[in-house]
Amino acid sequence: MNTLFWSKVRQRVRKGTIVLTLTGLLLGSPAQALMATQGPQKAYAGQSQESKADTAPRIQPTLYAQAFGVFGSFVQAIMAIELPQKTTAAEPQESKKDADKTKPYIGKISPYKVTKLSQPTVFAQVWDKGVGLDLSKTHVVIDGKRLPGKVSPKGVFKEQIPKKLSNGWHFVAVKAWDKAKNYTQTNWSFEVDATKPYIGKVSPYNPINRRQPTLYAEVWDKGVGLDLSKTHVVIDGKRLSGKVSSKGMFKQRVPDYLDVGWHFVAVKAWDKAGNYSQTDWSFEVRGHKVKSAKYQSSRKGHKPKVIVLHSTIGTYPGDYRTLMGGAKVSAHFYVRKSGYIVRLVPDRIAAWHAGRSSFKGIGTDGSLNAESLGIEIESKGRGPGDYTKAQIEAVAEIVKNWQKKYGISDKYVTGHSGITRRKSDPKGFPWGDFWNRVHSLK
Ligand SMILES: [Zn+2]
Repeated sequence: MNTLFWSKVRQRVRKGTIVLTLTGLLLGSPAQALMATQGPQKAYAGQSQESKADTAPRIQPTLYAQAFGVFGSFVQAIMAIELPQKTTAAEPQESKKDADKTKPYIGKISPYKVTKLSQPTVFAQVWDKGVGLDLSKTHVVIDGKRLPGKVSPKGVFKEQIPKKLSNGWHFVAVKAWDKAKNYTQTNWSFEVDATKPYIGKVSPYNPINRRQPTLYAEVWDKGVGLDLSKTHVVIDGKRLSGKVSSKGMFKQRVPDYLDVGWHFVAVKAWDKAGNYSQTDWSFEVRGHKVKSAKYQSSRKGHKPKVIVLHSTIGTYPGDYRTLMGGAKVSAHFYVRKSGYIVRLVPDRIAAWHAGRSSFKGIGTDGSLNAESLGIEIESKGRGPGDYTKAQIEAVAEIVKNWQKKYGISDKYVTGHSGITRRKSDPKGFPWGDFWNRVHSLK
């Protein structure tokens, strides 16, 4: 290679260096700001102001290369060409070492915020612009103990911490030397939270009669704290809108009436380190709520002998209001489409459901009220399709219990239409399915 070529190369390198220095000045402050926001959290000792000032501009070749793309790479390539030229110069090794007055540079360290791993991998990048790193001396310390791992010839330190770390803060130091004995150190710390959030005290747990229960759960975290934005509660597969409070309390009334039966709840909790835990439970809603309808009267010593089924020819909640006293009517039970059962009048009291009526010679004072039990079924009564399976099951269950309790045979179970010519309900009632269901019950 001729001397002209190399002098040109050197010139370009010098230009490149000038550009680098200028870029360094321009980007120095943003880079430091970047490092301040993304870099070591809680740097607690060591790294002097001087070494910070020192390291910031030296990050520039990388930033520069990224920012200026091809040109940056070109400059770096030329710089790489130049270096072997230097080493081939007939300078004694000692004086070359003296020429390296710059400390090694330490960048890209991790983990530096929060980790859910109790044995994280510590990572650091170390390099030297001068004679090169002293790989035998350069090392990493965690909580005062030296890690056995070495920095690779490429300046990479990567080692999984051999022993499990406890929850809390841990302190790392990278100590780097170059072959000219220049020394630098970077300290940083990170927080370990390797434990999952805890979920306790969930309710309701036992069977309940409320159709709109309040779901309650207590959640807490021993480490860095709950991620309140992610933590939530699900009922029957639906996420509830409520949030866990900063004190870890979740409390929300279910948004809709729950049907009779089992309901499934899950609390899904995350902490800020990403640890996750879940608690599932279920509870049963039993709908035998004792309500008291306005219109009811004494049985006057009579026992129930007949069971009468009705359909409301309406829907909830209009039906319910009517049966509770909105009109001069009532029944012992109201069974909703969902199968939900509401008790309106106790068995020992006569409900006002039969009106002027009689059945198989039974009927005191021209009405069956004193000697019967009545169920109102939420239904438009237009056909069998207006009665749900859940309703048939619920009605069958009530009827079976009454039959056993009062010794009432199937023959004394009828519809409103069976006790008076004035009425046609429960129209369309699937008696066949109903009886199959009743007979399947013990
Ligand atoms: Zn009726």
